[in-house]
Amino acid sequence: MDDQRLDVLRGVIKETKVDSKDDDKDEKKEDIFEKKVQFQCELCGLCEMCQYKGKDPPFVKNLLQFSESCYVMVDPFTPRQAKFGNNFLVLGGECDACHVTVCVDCSLYFTKRFCVKCAQFNINEFPKDVQSRIVKLADSYAKQKSR
Ligand SMILES: [Zn+2]
Ligand SMILES: [Zn+2]
Repeated sequence: MDDQRLDVLRGVIKETKVDSKDDDKDEKKEDIFEKKVQFQCELCGLCEMCQYKGKDPPFVKNLLQFSESCYVMVDPFTPRQAKFGNNFLVLGGECDACHVTVCVDCSLYFTKRFCVKCAQFNINEFPKDVQSRIVKLADSYAKQKSR
């Protein structure tokens, strides 16, 4: 019994050491949280600095792979956890048809990302349920513009 407890204790000590090592590493990695990429939606003008553009953000740990190259920001409202990956926000991406940079509010993702304009223009190419999404999107985009 006593031996087992000792092992548990050792285990705890070991873990604490590993933790402090990780902290050192995190300090070096800190620059991945620096906002170096400028995102600007070409449709609504939303402008935001973010950490990453691409498919495989360094701060999102193997939880998912993006199927498109997108602008990713570490969620500023949740604490950072280097070990488990971070919460993140996708700001937007590029329209596959006209290649403008668009935010998630001005675009829709269906196999690829399309800006609201291209989605509207090609609306007949999409399945019915996606068509209704496009109509809603175009509607809110028009309202946003007239504001
Ligand atoms: Zn936008
Ligand atoms: Zn487009």
